Amino acid sequence: MSGRLLFGISGLPLGVGQKVNYASAIPYLKAFGLDAMELLFVRTVNVSDANKDTILHNKLANDFYLSAHGSHYINLNADASEKRKASIERILDGVDALLKVQGRSLIFHPGYYLGSSKEGSYTAIKESLCRLPHKGIDYRLETTGKGTAFGTLEELVSLCKEIPSCKLCIDFAHIHARNNGSLKNYDDFAGILQYVSGQLGQAALDDLHIHMGGVEYGVKGERNHLPLQESDFNYVACLKALKEFEVRGCVICEGPRVEYDSLLLKRTYQDL
Ligand SMILES: [Zn+2]
Repeated sequence: MSGRLLFGISGLPLGVGQKVNYASAIPYLKAFGLDAMELLFVRTVNVSDANKDTILHNKLANDFYLSAHGSHYINLNADASEKRKASIERILDGVDALLKVQGRSLIFHPGYYLGSSKEGSYTAIKESLCRLPHKGIDYRLETTGKGTAFGTLEELVSLCKEIPSCKLCIDFAHIHARNNGSLKNYDDFAGILQYVSGQLGQAALDDLHIHMGGVEYGVKGERNHLPLQESDFNYVACLKALKEFEVRGCVICEGPRVEYDSLLLKRTYQDL
């Protein structure tokens, strides 16, 4: 990563009147003022031999950053070994597609606790992650927004410490929602970054993948995305902490206002 913080969106932009696809979204977002897009492989891997060349061409022509969000049907803590195997295959399908367009990071949620203990889940997930081959893509473990899903910050930091091919994706909205609105002010965000650099070193902050956005939540965690300014997510404090800790990497904005909220984040960050 080239020593700066990139800003982009999750999935396709709203666009203006015209229909957008991944390939046409890249020059549109670049002209809009953004740097990155996270391809959504959540239901199906939608980069194929039919669209990969134009996506790659536009990515290179616009010096654009691509990541991808892996399948939602991944559970590396599944009881049945066929289910774990299928989960690994879904991860690898995402990796292969991302490699075709020279993407860098595949983001996914590693699994669910289901009936097992936190420790048991950790061990099972670690075992599966260790089997993932090195293919030039970073496996990004994302902090999850519900208490039933494996993926507290502590769990993921620990996995990243143990497995060299795994890196962190901090979803601040998820952490906020999972803990029923825990991220309120600068110190809450700074505490997270302090913890990450303390455990994984400054290198983790030099190349961090981040999700951010407005989120509606309850005691059970996340419900749905909201426009940033209609939510209680303190994005200004979050961005201040990112700047103060000299975080580099990529901020992906999620929510219904897509590119407009991402640009709001970028401009706010630049004006701090
Ligand atoms: Zn996610």
